[in-house]
Parts: sequence; C-alpha cells; structure tokens
Amino acid sequence: MKQNVSNGEFCPKRTKRPERMVIKMADKFVYLFKEGNGSMKNLLGGKGANLAEMTSLNLPVPQGFTITTEACIKYYEDGEVINESIIAEIMENITKMEAITGKKFGDLENPLLVSVRSGARASMPGMMDTILNLGLNDEVVEAFAKKTNNPRFAYDSYRRFIQMYSDVVMEVGKKFFEELIDKMKEEKGITLDTELTADDLKTLANQFKDEYKAKIGSDFPSDAKEQLMGAIQAVFRSWNNPRAIYYRRMNDIPGSWGTAVNVQAMVFGNTGDTSGTGVAFTRDPATGEKKLYGNFLMNAQGEDVVAGVRTPNDISLLKDIMPECYEQFVTICSTLENHYRDVQDMEFTIEDKKLYMLQTRNGKRTAAAALKIACDLVDEGMISEKEAVLMIDPKQLDALLHPQFDAKALKAAKEIGSAIAASPGAACGKVVFTAEDAVALGEKGEKVVLVRLETSPEDVEGMHNSEGILTVRGGTTSHAAVVARGMGTCCVSGCGEIKINEDAKTFELGGRTFNEGDYISLDGTTGKIYGEAIPTVEATIGGEFKRLMTWADQYRTLKVRTNADTPADAKKAAEFGAEGIGLCRTEHMFFETDRIAAIREMICSDTVEEREKALAKLEPMQQGDFESLYESMGNYGVNIRFLDPPLHEFVPTAEEDIKALAETQGKSVDDIKAIISSLHEFNPMMGHRGCRLAVTYPEIAAMQTRAVIKAAIAVSKRNPGLNIVPEIMIPLVGEIKELAFVKKVVVETADKVIADAGSSLKYTVGTMIEIPRAALTADEIATEADFFSFGTNDLTQMTFGFSRDDAGKFLKSYYDNQIYESDPFARLDQNGVGKLVSMACELGRKTNPNIKLGICGEHGGDPSTVEFCHNVGLTYVSCSPFRVPIARLAAAQAAIKAGK
Ligand code: PEP
Ligand code: MG
Repeated sequence: MKQNVSNGEFCPKRTKRPERMVIKMADKFVYLFKEGNGSMKNLLGGKGANLAEMTSLNLPVPQGFTITTEACIKYYEDGEVINESIIAEIMENITKMEAITGKKFGDLENPLLVSVRSGARASMPGMMDTILNLGLNDEVVEAFAKKTNNPRFAYDSYRRFIQMYSDVVMEVGKKFFEELIDKMKEEKGITLDTELTADDLKTLANQFKDEYKAKIGSDFPSDAKEQLMGAIQAVFRSWNNPRAIYYRRMNDIPGSWGTAVNVQAMVFGNTGDTSGTGVAFTRDPATGEKKLYGNFLMNAQGEDVVAGVRTPNDISLLKDIMPECYEQFVTICSTLENHYRDVQDMEFTIEDKKLYMLQTRNGKRTAAAALKIACDLVDEGMISEKEAVLMIDPKQLDALLHPQFDAKALKAAKEIGSAIAASPGAACGKVVFTAEDAVALGEKGEKVVLVRLETSPEDVEGMHNSEGILTVRGGTTSHAAVVARGMGTCCVSGCGEIKINEDAKTFELGGRTFNEGDYISLDGTTGKIYGEAIPTVEATIGGEFKRLMTWADQYRTLKVRTNADTPADAKKAAEFGAEGIGLCRTEHMFFETDRIAAIREMICSDTVEEREKALAKLEPMQQGDFESLYESMGNYGVNIRFLDPPLHEFVPTAEEDIKALAETQGKSVDDIKAIISSLHEFNPMMGHRGCRLAVTYPEIAAMQTRAVIKAAIAVSKRNPGLNIVPEIMIPLVGEIKELAFVKKVVVETADKVIADAGSSLKYTVGTMIEIPRAALTADEIATEADFFSFGTNDLTQMTFGFSRDDAGKFLKSYYDNQIYESDPFARLDQNGVGKLVSMACELGRKTNPNIKLGICGEHGGDPSTVEFCHNVGLTYVSCSPFRVPIARLAAAQAAIKAGK
C-alpha cells in the first residue's frame, strides 16, 4: 500500500469503509508514560496503561508515550488519516522523550531509536503490528555503529528495521527479505544469521532497500518523522486486519474500541553477549503451577525469542549467566504479581547488563490453569472469591468439558479449511457420509466424522455415533449445530468451500479429495478443519472447577436450565448444575425408528379418526419419555414444547421407505408421493409449523397434553415427595387468539385427565416469544400465558429476515466488511432483537405481573447474552447441557457486575 504525504497528512489508499464510532473525545491524544496509570486501559490500551503503571512503580521502563485509542477512532472517522493536530502532538512528545532520554530523533551524534507497538484495551497477542529500531537511516546507522562501537549490531538493527517496516507499513512480503538472507548465507557457505559479519549485514541492508524500491517504486524513507508516522498509521490500520477482526469476533471485543500505539525508546538485547531478551510468566500458563516460566536468548532482539529461529533457553538459566539481572527480575515479577493480583506475562530486555521491562499484562492461560490460579490466589489471600469468579472467562470452561487436540500435534497439523464453529471440542476420525455408516462403524469401535451436505433429524443416531460432524450448509442454529451442542459432540457447519458428492462418497476441500475412510480432524471451538488425524485428549474436570462453580452460584440470581429432549441429556445437564429443563423439543422424540412410522402414519391420514389412531400409538411413547424427564429433574421445572417443525421433515425421502409407508397405509406409492409433495413449502420456516400445526390438527396438541399430564400423575404417584408442575409451551405464537385457541385444547384435555385420575396436579401453559409480532403484542399475549420463553433462534431469524440455516453462507462477507462483528445467531443482537426481548418483558409484566420469563434460544449459553438476560430481569436462561456451567458462571459475573 502506498502512502501519499500531502499537507502534512498521511493519506493511504482506503482499504475498508471506516466504522461508525461515535464517542465524545478529549483534546489530548498523546500521554507520556509518566502521565498515565494502570486504570486508563480504555484510553491507553492495556500495554500503554501498564507501561505507565510500571513507570509509576519506579520499575526500569524505557520511557516513551502512548497515542490513545481515541486517536485511532479519530483516524478511522477521518477516513484513515492522522490529522495535523495529532501529528503535532506526537512530535511534541518526541521532543519531550528526547529530553527524558538525552537522545535525539534522527541525530547523528546520539540518535533516539524507538519501537512502535499496538496495544488495545483487551490484549490481542500477535494480532496487530510492531516495528522496532525506528529512526535508523544510512547516516544514523553509521553514527550508531560508531557510538556503540559495534558496527555488526548497528547494521543488524538497520536491516531488521527495513525488513519490518517494509513488511508492516508497506506490506511488502517478509519472504522477499528472507530469500535475500538465505542467498547471502548460501554464497558465504554459512548456516546461521549470527555468522553474518557487519559488512554482510550492511550489504543486506542495501539489498533490502533496493528490494523496497523495486516493490514500492520509491526510496525507503530516510526521514525519521515520516518513518514514525508510517509506523503509527500501520498500527492503526492493523486494528482492522483480518486476523484481528477474527480474534475480536472470537473474543467479543468490539471493533469500536480501536487500538492505542506505544512509542518507546529502544533498548537493545542484541548488542553482544552481555545483552539479551526474553518473556516470562509469573506462573505456568499451561498448568497454573506457581513457578517462574519463560524463555530468553542472549544477544537477540524480541522477535527472535518467539520466531523459533533460535531455540531459547529456560528462564532459570539466566541465573547462571547474569545472576544480578536474574535476581532483580525475580523481585520485579513478584512486585508485579502482587500489584496486579494476577499472573503477569512480561517482556524484558537486558542491554549491557542492565535490565529493562518492556511490558507486563495479565497472562493468558489454559482453562485448567485459570481455575488453579484463581483458587490459589484466593488461598494465598491475594484475591476474594468474588474476584476469582470474575477472573475466569466463562467461554474458556468449554475446553474443560470437551476433548481437545494434543497441543503439540495440533501445532504441526495443516489446516485445509474452516467454517462455523458450531459445537465445541475436538474430533478426529474416519470420514463417513451417511448416518447409517456412522452407526455401523461406530458399533465396530471405529471413530468416525460424519460429513453431510446438511443433517436432518433422521441423522440423529449417526450423529450420536460420530466424534464430530462437518456440514456444507447450516449456521449456528441449524439442525446439526443445535443437536450436536445438545449431545456435546464437536461440529463445524456451513463449510461452503466443500464440494461434496454424497453418492460417490467423496468430498473436496483445500485442493484435496477425501474418500470414505480417510482421516480428518475438526476443531469445533475454532471451526478449523484438518485433513489428517490429530490425536485428542479427554477433558478433565478437577476439584477447582467445582470450587469455583460453588462460589459462582452464591452470586447469581438468574436460574440456569437446560435444553434437553432425552433423559441422558437431562442427566448430564443435572450433573453440570442445571436447575430444570427450559426446552424439551418434543419432535426430537419422534425420530427413533419405532416412532417415525407412527408419525408418518399420522401425516398420511385422511381423517381425524385415522390421525387419532396413529397418535394413540405415539402417546404411550411420549408419556414414557416425559416420565423419565420428570424423574431426572426431581422438583425442578420441566418445560415441554409442543410439536414445532413443518411436517415435511418427517416424511421419507428414500424410495424403499416410501414403498414401505405405502404398504402400511394401504395406499399407492404415487398417493404417498402426492402427499409428500403437497407438504412442500417455499419457506418452510415461515410455513405450516409451530402452533399452526395445532390449529389445523388440534388432536396433536390433545395427544401431547395427555402424555404430559399422565406422565406427571404417574411420576407423582411413584414419588409422593415430588411436586411436579408440568409446563406446557406453545411454539410460534404471533397472535393472542392463536394461543387462546390451542390453550383451550390443552386445558380441556388436561383438566379431563386430571379429573379422571382424581388428581390435584397443577400445570402451567405458556408460549414462546419467537415471532416479532408476539413481542410487539406481548401485553395481550401475557393475559393468556403463565410464562414466556424467548425463542431467540426464530426471533433472530425473523427480525433480521434471514434464514438461520442459510445465513452462514453470507455472514462471512458481513464480518469481512465489518457490517456485523459477530454471528447474531450465537450472540444476541442486543440493539435489535434484544430490544424486542426487553420490550416484551415490560409489556408482559404490565398485564401479568407474575409472568415467568426465560430464554431457550441458543443464545441462552452465550456469556454476553446471559448478562443481557440478567439485566432485563429474566427468571432463567436455558441452554444445551454442556453450556450450563458457562451460563452459571456468566450469570454470576453479570450479577456481580450489576451490583458494583
Ligand atoms: C428458538 O426458536 O429459539 C427455539 C428455541 O426453538 P427452535 O430452535 O426449536 O426453533
Ligand atoms: Mg423456534
């Protein structure tokens, strides 16, 4: 990318539409480290605030200044231009820095060299750009070589700067420079960079500049100010590079925050054998063990430690090489950990035996380490239980509940594609293309990954037998995603890049063709797909998990229920702490082989009597299912949702199944085909489904009511201590009269069953709020409803007006173009859909103050949505079993934050 310098402004070619970021800004956009402090993270970014804080603690920090996140916001508002007044403020602070360091920018006697680094409010390691050794040019490097009496070091620093600047600021690929280095080494017959002499490095610097000119069409900038502005602008720009956007989406970091830029005096770890550089954590970030953990390299610059070119040493070895620096560093580590009351991740440099701290931040850690550290810090008296609860990222708990890839093997694996991370965990197995094959191989003990264009309810058994599921179509609330999450099975969905041939049992991805039996691996947490076997390790839940969850439960007020349709899922959820079932999708009970025949019979019936006969076959089966659910939940509520999907989902597609159905129904194959095609709808999601089925066929609602009530009476009889109050939920209501109509069927049927049994069973009838009209008329609907449960999957689909099954196809372009920051089916769109939710709560409470309010869409397990649900005063959230702990922790954090 070229930059034009005009009127003192840097105006690069526009890459992206600027985001709309409306905030009130201060007049000051630049702070010296000594002007800031640790509480100014929003303005100075995490790195800047911590550099300021370390400065105030009198720790050895090379001085400099931070350009605020507001300056970044302004840069985007102004059309990716740094305005003149901010440039002037930056240059004033360079002058102040010169006074502090006694060095001068661009000076030939005593030049000031700086690093330019990003630093957002939330740490985003490696996502944005850094430039070191800025301020060097052909003359300054000579002076620098003389002053340091170390020409090799000076030219090494210069060639690194040209390389980094070209790559980061001007986007000339790194590889061109690497090739030049390799060529030089080959010509000289050497293998290590360290074997290059000062002259070699000088030649390389010249070659690099030539390369720059060839690629960019102009000379490498020699003016320090121009270099500085280019670098600052590159850091601002890197806020919107694809990996930063992806990282933000994964970590719920808003694009409107912007990044700060830190300009800091360089210190050099590459001046010779008395210098070095390293990174260290105050505790082991993998296990949480309390011991200094880190690496360093002597005679090296920062990037060498992480680049993997040279193998770094364990931090403990520094004790032997430079005992004084080591002791000082250990003392600083404990000062910082005590100060921040959390594990610190620090960067340091030693320049000629003098230690400098370049950065400190709360260290990223694995889920297991996070729990151990939180508990240890409580035990050490460093933090309170409440602080420990706030310290854990709820989403991280996923890793403790699902298998994960072996970290080493994962590093070596090659990604062949990626799609929607629909259900977390790691899976590795042989490719199969049908649910039947998954079952057959699964029974033989083989591990399989089911690859499908999309899954349907008929695939459930095969899905259950698979380690993972990969689909070409479907988003985060597609059938595959919802069912996989319920089972705790890894799923990557909506991979449109796959070319699948289900008949030939092959698929193509990443330039390769995969056949049945080939190994693939899926990461359901990141959405990555690998064309090879990567070993997985089982999840482990230690004692700390239970301890932390117990603390969390003390603070939360929001109840956490689960979405479960089978006793096995309900049991799992209860183990994870679910306090009831918030959604039992009864249709999932219809798909087992012995049941699907009866429902198909019902669909193909010509008269009410025939339909009732078919339904009568289903009734005892449903009753049995409900009995198991009540028993698994004890006194907790069980919310049973009546039949919801369009009937075409139940009809057979295979010719032999159609034939079999024709035989049992005493109809011709053509008759059955005619029925099937009559069920075809252009928009099945907006078609004959939900309560509309009960309006057309009230006998379905009557059968389900009998099953719900009879089951409750039977279980209550067997367990006199239990107080079972079934909750009957009518889906897809948009009009009060619809609800009233179905409710009448339910109440008449239920009351008769109760009276016939001589029972005093109580039950409630409520509705899902999942159609915008239901939210808009919630005050009317609440007069007929004991409860509302927000079906935010459909509510999102219908509010946005895009299909929950197909949106995955185009959402990526929305992220890339920064129209959306996250998947609205995964994280509730609080501005739009959320407004409908809070409005419906208010309207509902107005006419029915006792109304119970919950959410059962997939959003119920998303931490940011849980916080929203707490704030609008819902009674409970309901989510798939494996997300119950996440929701419990998120609910506790929401309560603590709201109480602050
Ligand atoms: C919903 O729409 O949010 C919901 C829970 O129902 P389903 O996903 O079954 O349509
Ligand atoms: Mg729904």
